[in-house]
Amino acid sequence: MTNHLLDCLVVGGGPGGLTAAVYLARFKRSCLVVDADDSRLKRIAKTRNVLGFPDGIAGSELLQRVREHAARYQVPVESGCVGTLAPLAGGGFEARDGERSWRARTVVLATGALDVEPEVEDLEQGLQHALVRYCPVCDGFETQGRRVAVLGKAGHGQREAAFVAGFGNEVTWLSMQTQHTVGEQEVERLRRRMRIADQAPRRIRCAPGDGVHVELADGQTLRFDLLYSALGLRHASELATSLGAGVLDDGQLAVDGHMQTTVPGLYAVGDVAGGLNQINVAAGHAAIAATAIHNSL
Ligand SMILES: Cc1cc2nc3c(=O)[nH]c(=O)nc-3n(C[C@H](O)[C@H](O)[C@H](O)COP(=O)(O)OP(=O)(O)OC[C@H]3O[C@@H](n4cnc5c(N)ncnc54)[C@H](O)[C@@H]3O)c2cc1C
Repeated sequence: MTNHLLDCLVVGGGPGGLTAAVYLARFKRSCLVVDADDSRLKRIAKTRNVLGFPDGIAGSELLQRVREHAARYQVPVESGCVGTLAPLAGGGFEARDGERSWRARTVVLATGALDVEPEVEDLEQGLQHALVRYCPVCDGFETQGRRVAVLGKAGHGQREAAFVAGFGNEVTWLSMQTQHTVGEQEVERLRRRMRIADQAPRRIRCAPGDGVHVELADGQTLRFDLLYSALGLRHASELATSLGAGVLDDGQLAVDGHMQTTVPGLYAVGDVAGGLNQINVAAGHAAIAATAIHNSL
């Protein structure tokens, strides 16, 4: 156990958690990061919308740079996965990972989210070759004039298909047998901008150099330059909800203007908190939370 009562424990060492830690260290606050080392940054072949990197930067390299930045201020980062978070009698929190525990006056949860993975053969290879993508806000710009499939149910899937069509792509919405839940007028409106393939895909295969092949239930095979998966995210909010923190409809944690959850002293930043899932947003959240924490202590 770390006997010392930290000013802040940061759970998660992606861009959100490490930015919070850098700010807190520069405010001369004692803080420590516990990280399970599975940042979504590691899955980004190259990001092109992080300011300061006009030629883009691989997610793994950006993560390394952010880690070096935190090391510059001697922020301790421990490998581990916090399993429980409990309130302390006199205020503050205790976090545990098996036998280890940490106590802190405040906690920043920066535990991120995991993409719901599509059933695609060779998914990792497809992601690395940018044949399969998760986020048109991130890289829709790079898809202009291509044949693009968007896999996702009515609601999220149809919105994402319309968004991707906005880049001048030839879009097919793979609606996973949910087209009947969309009103006729809306289907007509969508059909003016894209094709809709409602049958459930039987097999999706990445063929580097030859795009993505989608075999439908009737045996027909459709070929695309790339596929966006719009199956959503699972937000890693359990540590907060175990303390009664409020969540939004999509599973993100509800936060106030200082990024504080509905549990006093417990803050959330990045993908786990309400808002757009982006690196710049995670860093912005973290700057707000760290400054609010510093001013509150
Ligand atoms: C393929 C892909 C491409 C993307 N492209 C872009 C892009 O171009 N531009 C952009 O802005 N965004 C992009 N994103 C999104 C971006 O990666 C995320 O928005 C960003 O990483 C969120 O940062 P975060 O700190 O909230 O979470 P993460 O970076 O996911 O970090 C969370 C960390 O918390 C750790 N953790 C979780 N639970 C625990 C626990 N209980 N105890 C300890 N540690 C824990 C995890 O292991 C992880 O290391 C992309 C994402 C993907 C998957």
